[in-house]
Amino acid sequence: MHNPFIVSIKCPECGAPLRYPEGTYTFKCAYCGSVLRTEAGARDLKYIITSSLGQRDIALATKKILLQKGVKKLPVIKRITVVYKPFWYFKGMIYRVFANNGKTDVIGKTWSHSFEANNGFAPALSTLGVKTEALTLKPYDSEEYKDSGVFLPLTVDRESARNTAAGLAQRNTEMDASLAVKSDAPRKKRISLWNSELDFIEPVQEKTDLRMKTPEAFSRVYMAGEKFFIIYYPVINVICKGPEEYSGFLLDGVSRALLEETDGASVISGEKTPEAAAQYRIRLLTHRCKNCGHDLAPRDFDIIYFCGNCCRLWLLKGDGYLGVKLNVLDAGSNRNILYIPMWAFDVALESEKAGVAMDSVGGLAGFMKMGEMILRDRDPAVGLRLFVPALVSRNAGALLKFAANISRMQKEAPPASGSPDFLRLKVMNVSLPPEEAVDMLYPLVCSLIGRVDPQAMNFYSDLRIKVRKSELVWRPFTGSGYNYIDYFTRLSLPRRSLDVNVY
Ligand SMILES: [Zn+2]
Ligand SMILES: [Zn+2]
Repeated sequence: MHNPFIVSIKCPECGAPLRYPEGTYTFKCAYCGSVLRTEAGARDLKYIITSSLGQRDIALATKKILLQKGVKKLPVIKRITVVYKPFWYFKGMIYRVFANNGKTDVIGKTWSHSFEANNGFAPALSTLGVKTEALTLKPYDSEEYKDSGVFLPLTVDRESARNTAAGLAQRNTEMDASLAVKSDAPRKKRISLWNSELDFIEPVQEKTDLRMKTPEAFSRVYMAGEKFFIIYYPVINVICKGPEEYSGFLLDGVSRALLEETDGASVISGEKTPEAAAQYRIRLLTHRCKNCGHDLAPRDFDIIYFCGNCCRLWLLKGDGYLGVKLNVLDAGSNRNILYIPMWAFDVALESEKAGVAMDSVGGLAGFMKMGEMILRDRDPAVGLRLFVPALVSRNAGALLKFAANISRMQKEAPPASGSPDFLRLKVMNVSLPPEEAVDMLYPLVCSLIGRVDPQAMNFYSDLRIKVRKSELVWRPFTGSGYNYIDYFTRLSLPRRSLDVNVY
């Protein structure tokens, strides 16, 4: 992922300071060698950004503000309070599926955004608004920070946060769509597929012009690989006593900019320990093989680990590990192969409104645009199987395009015979958990079907996807220039869009 926050924490084994990119599940202490992982059970992690401003910095900033206001006689600072304002931070891949003017489109991008989790205070500070690289997060610990200031309660819960993020994502992708309307739109790529045209827009700077928005017959936003966390951001409340009266200011605790003036009489109310975060602490645990107790190698953002001792594969799920089978598709004796992980889902697609229920290749062939032609030599009785790359990518659009293309072909590759030797294969890491890969199925199906007639519109609007079975499969690819080429279908996946990490 692009520009993650840096988290600073102490090693629970030796007390040494550690720094790692936010979102990393596992890492190794450089001092004592302990292999650690963050506790995944607490799904919404909480972090804090502490203010680096000392009394003197605050006094100077206040003086500067007052002088700019033209105050002749400077008041005395009576009180300084650090108030922590909570923010939700979202990151993930977003997809907007829409259909109009006789074509379906999917916009996919990797996106992050912050928004208020308490909207009753310092409205001027509505997003973090600072470059993430410039900020260091510390894990929030209710015990450690209980005397650090006033914490504002969360007034926006997780579900509302998700809705807010979806709304912002919708707006953001509408802007992309409006940019795409202009022929001179920057960094826009048009990709022609077998049976539909999809626009994938590279991340662009936010534009506020919404006038270009075109009316759409159908539009919906999906998020995959999403992650939410809370960040407490410092706001400095300064109360001054002038010759006659009190006055106050709210300063940004990082940039020291003036956020707003207060009358100085009202005291910011909050709690020393926010109720929602009471007894909150991010825990670090040891990271060992469930079978033999051997240390598992840390793998940053990955969620599957290989035990070098007993050769088992483990999927990190919540606070535990699930055994995973090494499922490799056979590429013969070709040595120049990179195995890329895919989640394979056996699915049934249903829409009451469109009167469609399909769970086989034959069903898809009959409903998909040009399906009869594309799937003409496939066995119609075979179950419907969709593939999603098991990766969080900085190019969400390319990932979805590949998923749709490969799923459209419904071509099963032969599984490897015997038990493959993990250590001898070049196997790419897994970073997208299955429950999040499922979220990609909807936009995938829409771009797969590719139709925009009234029946298809009905299909998209109440489509239900039932997953009957899911498994992890490593597909063989060969490298070629800018792309990885699927060994069986010759479809390409742009190299640049993958953060390659090979076991
Ligand atoms: Zn250590
Ligand atoms: Zn083991």
